[in-house]
Amino acid sequence: MADFGKDSTASDPRTQYLKDYQPPAYLVEDITLRIELDPAATRVTSRLTIKRNPAAQAPDQPLQLDGQELELTALRVDGIALTENEYQVEEGKLVLEDLPDDVTLEIETVIHPDRNTALEGLYVSGDMFCTQCEAEGFRRITFFPDRPDVMARYTTTLVADKNRYPVLLSNGNPVEQGEMDDGRHWVSWQDPFPKPSYLFALVAGDLFCREDSFQTCSGRQVTLKIFVEHENRHKCAHALDSLKQAMKWDEETYGREYDLDIFMLVAVNDFNMGAMENKGLNIFNASCVLATPETATDADYYNIQSIIGHEYFHNWSGNRVTCRDWFQLSLKEGFTVFRDQEFSADLNSRPVKRIADVNLLRSHQFAQDASPMAHPVRPDSYIEISNFYTVTVYNKGAEVVRMIRNLIGSDGFRKGCDLYFQRHDGQAVTTDDFVAAMEDATDIDLSQFKRWYSQAGTPLVSAAGHYDAQTECYQLTLSQQCPPTPGQELKAPFHIPVEVALLDTTGRALALKLEGENATSGTHRMLELRENSQQFNFVGVKTSPVASLLRGFSAPVKLDMARSDEELAFLFANDPDPFNRWDAGQRLASQTLLQLVRQVQHGDTLTLEDRFIHAFQATLEHSTLDAALITQALTLPSESYLADQSDSVDVDAIHTARVFVHQQLADHLFDSFLDIYHRHNDDESYRFDAASMAKRSLKNLCLGYLMETIRGEARNVCFTQLEKSHNMTDTLAALSSLAQHDWSETDDYLQRFYQQWQHDPQVIDKWFAIQAGSRLPDTLQRVKTLLNHPAFRFTNPNKVRALIGRFCMANQVRFHAADGEGYRFLTDQVLALDKINPQMAARLVSTLSRWRRFDANRQDLMQTELKRILSAPEISKDTFEIVSKSLD
Ligand SMILES: [Zn+2]
Repeated sequence: MADFGKDSTASDPRTQYLKDYQPPAYLVEDITLRIELDPAATRVTSRLTIKRNPAAQAPDQPLQLDGQELELTALRVDGIALTENEYQVEEGKLVLEDLPDDVTLEIETVIHPDRNTALEGLYVSGDMFCTQCEAEGFRRITFFPDRPDVMARYTTTLVADKNRYPVLLSNGNPVEQGEMDDGRHWVSWQDPFPKPSYLFALVAGDLFCREDSFQTCSGRQVTLKIFVEHENRHKCAHALDSLKQAMKWDEETYGREYDLDIFMLVAVNDFNMGAMENKGLNIFNASCVLATPETATDADYYNIQSIIGHEYFHNWSGNRVTCRDWFQLSLKEGFTVFRDQEFSADLNSRPVKRIADVNLLRSHQFAQDASPMAHPVRPDSYIEISNFYTVTVYNKGAEVVRMIRNLIGSDGFRKGCDLYFQRHDGQAVTTDDFVAAMEDATDIDLSQFKRWYSQAGTPLVSAAGHYDAQTECYQLTLSQQCPPTPGQELKAPFHIPVEVALLDTTGRALALKLEGENATSGTHRMLELRENSQQFNFVGVKTSPVASLLRGFSAPVKLDMARSDEELAFLFANDPDPFNRWDAGQRLASQTLLQLVRQVQHGDTLTLEDRFIHAFQATLEHSTLDAALITQALTLPSESYLADQSDSVDVDAIHTARVFVHQQLADHLFDSFLDIYHRHNDDESYRFDAASMAKRSLKNLCLGYLMETIRGEARNVCFTQLEKSHNMTDTLAALSSLAQHDWSETDDYLQRFYQQWQHDPQVIDKWFAIQAGSRLPDTLQRVKTLLNHPAFRFTNPNKVRALIGRFCMANQVRFHAADGEGYRFLTDQVLALDKINPQMAARLVSTLSRWRRFDANRQDLMQTELKRILSAPEISKDTFEIVSKSLD
């Protein structure tokens, strides 16, 4: 009857505003779907039971259904077929006027999964069908009010050829199945919990299933199933272990029990995101779920545990209580990232987890805040919502939840969460509702705090301390300011929790008493900074203290406090808060590195002070410090973090300075690195636990430093590790260090690695990434050659991320080459990719959005490329939004 063309091109990109939100005119109570799967033409029949929404703004609003790239073949209202003049089709919407208040709608559409390279909606990956409906993919399957505040009960029948697709999965519990005469079979699934369309999922294929079970706290038995392609059948154990750990943790920590009889995980090779929390049927990017010691690194094991936890936790924070609209995305994502961070911290090393999270925030989120794409945790507007699955919404969103916990305490936070789940179960709500539950459970006013949701930018907190020996008073002045961001020139003061301790000369934290208090209490305080500037007077302080501020990174701010290198070295050696101890080391290293950057720029001879080397040596040789913490402490701030600390980024000088410090430390401490390497190198079989990971991380850190010296001894250590290693962590660490050197052995070992692993796409992704991450001058040439490698596939997001993404987003010195060749390369890839997968194209191009941070020459080059993209015909609205905002 009608053909709905693409509406994803940016001929008329429309901005959506939070302030325009209106409740839906109609609600859908039930939807019955029948999906006859065929790669070339899948027939979708849906029956919707619809009711006018009493909360709608006007009583006579029409019913609007979203649809994209659908062929409509039939439309019936209460059993009567409509002709083409009885409905309207406009801009991706099907509009029906004058419907009764209660009505049944039947819709038949045909879709083409094999042509769907955007990987949104229903698509084909290898020999299987799968779906991705968040945020707006369901409209590519059938016409529906595709918005999260329409929650319906789903019954889904899947029909497919039995030989090709023996496994047919959807949300909820399987209720019926049967066979047909034509070689097809069918399975019906029923999900008793009303859910928004973005949580719908189906999977069909010839898949191996591993089964396990979990007994919930109330004694119910839940069947756990993981579905993978047959060649991956040996890679499921870690995912199932992680799932059981997550289910138990959520019961113990949040009192949340799982609610269906079955919980399923599926691994898919072609997937835009990491994973998706569809009700009862979580779909994972294969790289985020499959692992064996031989094929996955410690980092992979760690990520898998955390991502499995994250998706599982969504069952409550996202599925049972969902978002009213997509501006509220952080309601589920910020909260759930916070939950998965705490899960990982409880199961592994808490300080190491905190350091990793803060590193990510500083390198990526602070950079986003300083770019034209800066936006609040709850954005006010968007053109394409896919562009707002960002570090700001996710990771800063998690920091906002963490600050709430810092302000109302752990017990108050748990009470707030209980109230939130109880009050809003089965509803689609807002971040304001979340904060209200926290306030109501504790009687603490968070109205000023809510500015964290509406104001963008990274606040700068300045601190100054003054000690008066006469009055035994330590006066701490904290002030705040926040730089302008797009659309927000002036910011009102934030409500910032700043945890503080005062240390004596031995590093012991003093008992604290603020002016006006009756007695001392505790050795640390959560100060609340609410004004532009505030003074806190600590009394009864017998000796001049060193203030340890923002302990545990109690707020996502930049802290500015003038500190001498001596004071930082003291904190690096003595602060009892492991995070601040690490942070002092990073500040010391940053100050040193930025000083060296200036030396490079002036053409001076580079020198590294002995004091710096000694501070690092003391940590390296520390006898009682946890090996994982030593590794973190001795890892220099990244080039992107140093870039963020610079007024105008000088990529070459930053790179030169950082390599210089690595080489100096390696030369001076060679014997220590070698000795510690050998002491931590043993033949034990692989175990995934904090102690074993810590050992491997320190060993491989030492290897990395040793390799900077290019001494024969170091090369031999590296080659031996490559020959003897029986786990991917050690193999990859050695191969990555080797790939930084232009030696004949480098290509030999890369070749051998490829020969050994060519059958395993996940390992080959690592092989691409290592080469794309090399600092060698010919890396771009190599990346271009690899684009034509038979193992590279442009339609596979993991391959694009591993090769193109790694080079453009994580190889600062080669991507930003002064001749602009890296920028031209990126632009060519973005333009090609935009026609296939707009989400991936938009993500890649965002790396150009920071062009203002660079020198005039690079600014010109980057702008030229952004303009080239903008002038290309028919770019997607995803890419249009990023590029046009970048140039604004
Ligand atoms: Zn999530």
